[in-house]
Amino acid sequence: MNSRRHFLHKLSASLIALPAFSGRELNEIQLLNEKAYEGPVLRVAILGLGSYGTRVADAMKTCTRAKLVGAVSGTPSKIKDWQTKYGIPEKNCYNYENFDQIKNNPDIDAVYIITPNSLHAPFAIRTAKAGKHVICEKPMALNAKEGMTMIAACKAANVKLLVGYRVHFEPKTLEIIRMRNEGELGKVMFFQGLCGFRIGDPSQWRLNKALAGGGSMMDIGIYAINGSRYLVGEEPVWVTAQETKTDPVKFKEGVDETITFQLGFPSGVIASCLSTYSMNNLDRFYLNCEKGWAEMQPSTGYGPIKARTNKGELTHTHVTHQTVQMDEMSDIILGGKQPLVPVDGEEGLKDLKIIDAIFMAVKTGKKESLSL
Ligand code: NDP
Repeated sequence: MNSRRHFLHKLSASLIALPAFSGRELNEIQLLNEKAYEGPVLRVAILGLGSYGTRVADAMKTCTRAKLVGAVSGTPSKIKDWQTKYGIPEKNCYNYENFDQIKNNPDIDAVYIITPNSLHAPFAIRTAKAGKHVICEKPMALNAKEGMTMIAACKAANVKLLVGYRVHFEPKTLEIIRMRNEGELGKVMFFQGLCGFRIGDPSQWRLNKALAGGGSMMDIGIYAINGSRYLVGEEPVWVTAQETKTDPVKFKEGVDETITFQLGFPSGVIASCLSTYSMNNLDRFYLNCEKGWAEMQPSTGYGPIKARTNKGELTHTHVTHQTVQMDEMSDIILGGKQPLVPVDGEEGLKDLKIIDAIFMAVKTGKKESLSL
C-alpha cells in the first residue's frame, strides 16, 4: 500500500471512532479513500437480512476492499428496503427459491450466510455449487459432520469457505496474541472464558433446537471455546462439561441454558469456561501466564473491546469489527492472504468438534478426548 493510500486508509478507520466529524465529511474522506484504493474488491451478497445481517451491511459502507452488491431473502419487503438503503440493483437480488440462479451472475463473488444455524450448511452447499465463495456465520454448522460436508462441497467447487470470526481481526486481541507469541507473558498456565447473557423472547429461533442446534453453547459459548484456542495458542486434547437448567420450559430438551466446561491442552494448560443464557454481563477472558497476565472485558462484544495486561491498559483504536473483517476477508479470498488467526472452514470445524464433545461429556459425565 503506498503511503498516501495508507494514510487515507488509517484516517477513514479512525474516523469511525471519532464522532466529531460530520457525516458529509466522513463521506468525502471515504470517497477519497475509495478513489485512492485501486486493488481488487470482493463483491458480496448477504443471505438472511436479519439483525446481524443489517449490522454487517451497515459496517460494509466503510469497507475499502469489499462491497455489498447483492441481497438474498425470504422476505420481499426487506429486499425492497435494502435496495433503497444500500443501493443494491434488482439484478443482484434473490429469494430462497431462485437463489441458485446466482451462478449466472458475474457481478457477485461471495455470499455471506447470516441465517439461523441450521440453514448455514444447506445454503453454503448451494452457494458452493453456484461457484461463489462462501462466508458463513458462526457456528459454521450444527455439528462437525455437517461442517465436513460444507468443507467438502467448497473444495469440490474450488471456492473458499470462511467463518465470520470477527474478533480474529480485533487489534487488542491480536496484540495479546503477539505478546504471548513473543514470550512477553511467559508460558501460558490458565485461561478463563465467561460468555453469556439473559435471553428474552422464548419463541425465538435461538431457543429452537431444530434451528439453533442447541442453546447458549452454539450462540455464545462458542466464543469461550474459540477464545481459549487463540489465546492459549494450542488445540485442546480433552474436555469435561456439566449442564445446569433452572427453566426446563424455556430451555427444552437439547437446548442448553448453562454449561460449565473445562478444556485440557497438550502443554498442561487448563481452560475453565462458562456458557449461559441466564446471566448478564458475562463477556470476559483471562489468561494467566508465568511472567504476566492478560484480561479482556468486554472480550468479544461489538466493542470497544477493553483489555489490559500486567504491563497496563491496551489503547489500540477501536475499529468497527465487521468493516475490518470484510476488508480482511477480501484479501484472504482475492489475494490469498493468511490471517494470524485462521477464519477458514477447518477453524470452524474445530469449534464444532469441541461442541460435539461438550454435549457428549454432559451426557456421559466423563472426560471426552479431542482429536482436532
Ligand atoms: P435474526 O433472526 O435476526 O436473522 C436471521 C435471518 O435469517 C432472518 O431475518 C431471515 O432473513 C433469515 N431466515 C431464513 N430462514 C429463517 C427461519 N426459518 N427463521 C428465522 N429466520 C430465517 O438472527 P441473527 O441475525 O441475530 O443471527 C443470524 C446468524 O448470525 C446466526 O448464525 C448467529 O449465530 C450469527 N450471529 C453472529 C454474530 C457475530 O458477532 N458474529 C452476532 C449475531 C449473530 P430474511 O427475512 O431475509 O429471509
